[in-house]
Amino acid sequence: MLKENGYELKLGSGIQMVSNYICEYSIKDDKKISNLLSKAELKANKVSKDILNKKSNKIGKTNFIYKKLYKKYISSCANQDRYFSVEDSCIECGICSKVCPVNNIDIEEGRPRFLHNCEHCLACVHWCPKQAIQWKDVTKDRKRYHNPNVKLEDMMKETIKDI
Ligand code: SF4
Ligand code: SF4
Repeated sequence: MLKENGYELKLGSGIQMVSNYICEYSIKDDKKISNLLSKAELKANKVSKDILNKKSNKIGKTNFIYKKLYKKYISSCANQDRYFSVEDSCIECGICSKVCPVNNIDIEEGRPRFLHNCEHCLACVHWCPKQAIQWKDVTKDRKRYHNPNVKLEDMMKETIKDI
């Protein structure tokens, strides 16, 4: 897209964030999270200065095998929501539907229904106030996480639309 519009990518950098893919692993403890977030903030400040100073670097190419695997993974995401279940602790608040970035959750008679257009981002899982959404049988006892600087209002579609 950049090339098509006459631009070139000049600077690449990575910022390690807290891994929140609880389908595979547990969230780190609070101390580790806090350390990671402090480091991320320092790095983000550095990157932001680099951008302001118009710095450039050599941007590495994505590994071929990783690219292939990622493509396969992405194509399997839409239906991953068939593994979601909603526990009776659901209070029918509708938050899961509001934080879903792709309108994949309909609320029917107060309860979420997944529409198989999922991006497997797990926002619904992490933001459900009752931890009522589970993926297979692996997420039940895993703690939920969201970045402490991000509020629920930030995640709501209406807010995103307004930006
Ligand atoms: S966010 Fe959780 S409690 Fe609220 S409707 Fe969705 S599943 Fe139920
Ligand atoms: S919030 Fe993410 S994981 Fe949940 S249904 Fe929407 S796209 Fe899928």
